[in-house]
Amino acid sequence: MFGSLKLGKFFGIDTYVHPTFWLLPLFVLIQTFGTGLTNVGFNLLFVFAVFFCVAMHEVGHALAARAYGIGTRDITLYPIGGVAMLERIPEQPWREVAVALAGPAVNVVIALALLIGLAASGFGAPWGDEPNVVERFVGPVFWANVVLCGFNLLPAFPMDGGRVLRALLALCRTRLRATELAVYVGTVVAVGMFVTGAALGELGLMLVAAFVWFVGQAELANVRMVTEARRLYGPPPPLIPSPPPLDPEAELAARRFSGLAWDPTRRVWVQWVNGVPVRDIPA
Ligand SMILES: [Zn+2]
Repeated sequence: MFGSLKLGKFFGIDTYVHPTFWLLPLFVLIQTFGTGLTNVGFNLLFVFAVFFCVAMHEVGHALAARAYGIGTRDITLYPIGGVAMLERIPEQPWREVAVALAGPAVNVVIALALLIGLAASGFGAPWGDEPNVVERFVGPVFWANVVLCGFNLLPAFPMDGGRVLRALLALCRTRLRATELAVYVGTVVAVGMFVTGAALGELGLMLVAAFVWFVGQAELANVRMVTEARRLYGPPPPLIPSPPPLDPEAELAARRFSGLAWDPTRRVWVQWVNGVPVRDIPA
């Protein structure tokens, strides 16, 4: 019914906002209703600033993957975080580690840049007493990046820390066994998150825990399937190399093609003269 809203392209990657994302600003609006327009605007701006950092975190994963020749279909922002849809996860452990750490690394860079920016423009640190209006905005964004980095590094597969754990386990085990162990640890962490969320009344944390468990199970099923397929049918065949480019002479000759060519979709012979189709000859 509702489509995702396209934000634009970051580094050539289509970035979308999922329809459910708007529940978050709506929630903030309800929570801060009646506290004055300034406060409401301030809180909304904070949410959008944090989700810009979430988008940049995902861009970090996407750019690291691109360095290994892996494309990203899109980045989508949900109310509980962002997802970069990589075409595939690198199977070489150190590459998976690099791609997983690139996201949190972006948050570290943003947090450092905010600290340096505050200091350079004469403002105090985000942990100072009696913050002014700039510090009151930049401070929480700084802390949000610290939390984004730390939280994503929890060893809860398929979160970033869990991916690092799986990759490190895969150094001395099969990928399947490493995934099983990482999903097991991830499930324990997810249960802890869910219980903590329930105790604190934090619905967001409970949703993240459910998401971690669900996606972890799905990825485990996928690794099991791929492993089984490889056992049965052997490794996938190498990609067919693309033909070498024609030299300019040959390409010109091909463009001037004269003769008959079979069109398989319309099931007719087509007569070409000097690279132009001139008439159909029914078979
Ligand atoms: Zn991440």
